Amino acid sequence: MSLGGFQSGFHARTVPRSQVKWETYLICSHGCEEVIQLISHVSGEVEFELCRVEAERMGRVLLEAARSKRESSTRLS
Ligand SMILES: [Zn+2]
Repeated sequence: MSLGGFQSGFHARTVPRSQVKWETYLICSHGCEEVIQLISHVSGEVEFELCRVEAERMGRVLLEAARSKRESSTRLS
């Protein structure tokens, strides 16, 4: 299932755990059934994958980073 992308050159999709590309490198101790993969628009290859729980954590970290930058630039102006 494709989940849409962003302009930095990746799109995301969710696959069952059985379709993980690098099982050895998957950090997951939650027993997640689904894995989110980031696929490069350039190579068409899976460049990054992480389980649903880790993906949500990563999303929160990115949101916090994005928002904190916006706040600091607001303070500067
Ligand atoms: Zn997990």
